[in-house]
Amino acid sequence: MTNPYYAQTDIGPPYFWDMLPQVIKDNYGKWLYHEKVKPGVLKHVGESGDELYTVRIGSPRLLSIETLRWFADIADKYCDGHLRFTSRHNVEFLLTDAGKVDALIEELEAAGWPVGGTGKSLKNLIHTQGWIHCHSAATDASGPVKAVMDDLFDYFKKDDLPAKLKISMACCLNMCGAVHCSDIAFVGVHRKIPRVDDNGVANGCEIPNVVASCPTGAIRPNPKAKSVTINEEKCMYCGNCYSVCPSLPIMDPENDGIAIFVGGKVSNSRSGPAFSKLAIPFIPNEPPRWDSLVAAIRNLVEIWVKDAKKGERYGEWIERIGWEKFFEKANLPFTDKHIDDFIFSVPTFRSTTQFKFTK
Ligand code: SF4
Ligand code: SF4
Repeated sequence: MTNPYYAQTDIGPPYFWDMLPQVIKDNYGKWLYHEKVKPGVLKHVGESGDELYTVRIGSPRLLSIETLRWFADIADKYCDGHLRFTSRHNVEFLLTDAGKVDALIEELEAAGWPVGGTGKSLKNLIHTQGWIHCHSAATDASGPVKAVMDDLFDYFKKDDLPAKLKISMACCLNMCGAVHCSDIAFVGVHRKIPRVDDNGVANGCEIPNVVASCPTGAIRPNPKAKSVTINEEKCMYCGNCYSVCPSLPIMDPENDGIAIFVGGKVSNSRSGPAFSKLAIPFIPNEPPRWDSLVAAIRNLVEIWVKDAKKGERYGEWIERIGWEKFFEKANLPFTDKHIDDFIFSVPTFRSTTQFKFTK
């Protein structure tokens, strides 16, 4: 297989085919089956009889160049130079020699890298930029994810959960993480509209651009002040306007925090893909260890582990027992915040007051 463009330009990433291990090229489209050898280790077998072993480790996503060089050295030593990154920030080492698997695992774990995250386990948390990088973050990303993952770490190393468990986080509702479709998801939320600095807007921002940046049409020009006004009823606190105009700051130490959603999934197995729904509307930001968030997520995980049937994803479990029962089991209050009455809400979200507790 050759890339028709590769020889003509150096724009874009290298051609994927050139990066594949030889065993994958040889068995492309001809894999017979795969099995889970043990937590963190997969085995693929081709029609040709070729075997490919995958050893998965979790990473914290933000990696130093020293760490990447170390990964590359390990890949040279065990995997003919091949490794891959997954969309959940795992690193997977690909080997053809079954005899090297245990030695590789030993070396990875001795250096502090956890092997796991396959099968019915907690997957590595997918997350976003947070305070370390993004301007519109309502919470940090790496900090709360580290705290949550430290608490749930054992579930990554074992694969004895009712089903796979995908937890995601995004630090604002623009959702660079898969918050809308994960079993448990936490998302940074702003609760106040951007503050308009008329002088800054007049002198530093292109008003047509600012008006056009708002997805809900909440921003209108304010010709008198050569600035803009924001309609609070229409604002959904997304921070897009702040991206194009630094004189509309939205971050707020008192009112920013985290909401938790549950029950989403992408897969089509057993039941169709589903959006996550709101379980906890607001938890304040509590750096450095986000104690309330960690406790809330542990509670959500434990009630599912205790109650779900084998193979039942989080949302499937809730659909079986009913959302009312879920709120009871989680010991969560159901409040007006759980009713989505925002003017631009879509029918897939909860939009009814029908909700009957069973006791
Ligand atoms: Fe930035 Fe929002 Fe994406 Fe976080 S989720 S990285 S705050 S755009
Ligand atoms: Fe519009 Fe988002 Fe700015 Fe609110 S925060 S005014 S919804 S762009």
